[in-house]
Amino acid sequence: MEKTLVIIKPDGVARGLMGEIISRLERRGIRMIGMKFVQVSQDMAEQHYAVHKERPFYPALIEYITSGPVVLMAWEGNKVIEAVRQSVGATNPTQAAPGSIRGDFGIDIGRNLIHASDSPENGVAEVGLWFAADEIVSWERVGESWVYEG
Ligand code: UDP
Ligand code: MG
Repeated sequence: MEKTLVIIKPDGVARGLMGEIISRLERRGIRMIGMKFVQVSQDMAEQHYAVHKERPFYPALIEYITSGPVVLMAWEGNKVIEAVRQSVGATNPTQAAPGSIRGDFGIDIGRNLIHASDSPENGVAEVGLWFAADEIVSWERVGESWVYEG
C-alpha cells in the first residue's frame, strides 16, 4: 500500500482551511496514519525541498513554508499518491480544476495551500523525513471494503 506526505501550508492554516482540507481527504476514503501541528524549521524546510534547491522560486518557497505553523499528515491507501494529487489539483491554482483544493481555494502558485508527495518512492521518503516510526499508527478504517473493491 502507498503512503503520502501531505502538508497544509501556512496559508491553509492561517485561512482556517485545516478542517476543510482534512475533511476532503478523509471523505475520499483514505486512512490517516500520522498527524502533527508544527512550525517548520529552516533545516527541515531545506531538506524537504532539496530537489528544488536550484530553482528560482526556492528562496521564496523556503520563506513561505517556514512563515507560520503547518499541519503535517501521513495518509495510506491503494493509489493514495494519485488520488491525493488529484484532490490537491495542479501546482498553479489558476490551472487547478474546480473541485480540487487548490482550484477551489487558491489563486497564486506561491500560496497554493498544500503539499502532497508525487510518487510512491517520494511518499515513503517524505513520511520518513517528517515522522518517526513510533508516530505512525497502524489501523484500519471501518468500511474500507466500500472504498476498495479488493
Ligand atoms: N512553486 C512556486 N513557483 C513555481 C513552482 C513551484 O512557488 O513556479 C512552489 C509551490 O509552492 C509548489 C512548490 O514550490 O507547491 C513545489 O513545487 P512542485 O513543482 O513540486 O509542485 P507541487 O508538487 O507542490 O504541485
Ligand atoms: Mg512537488
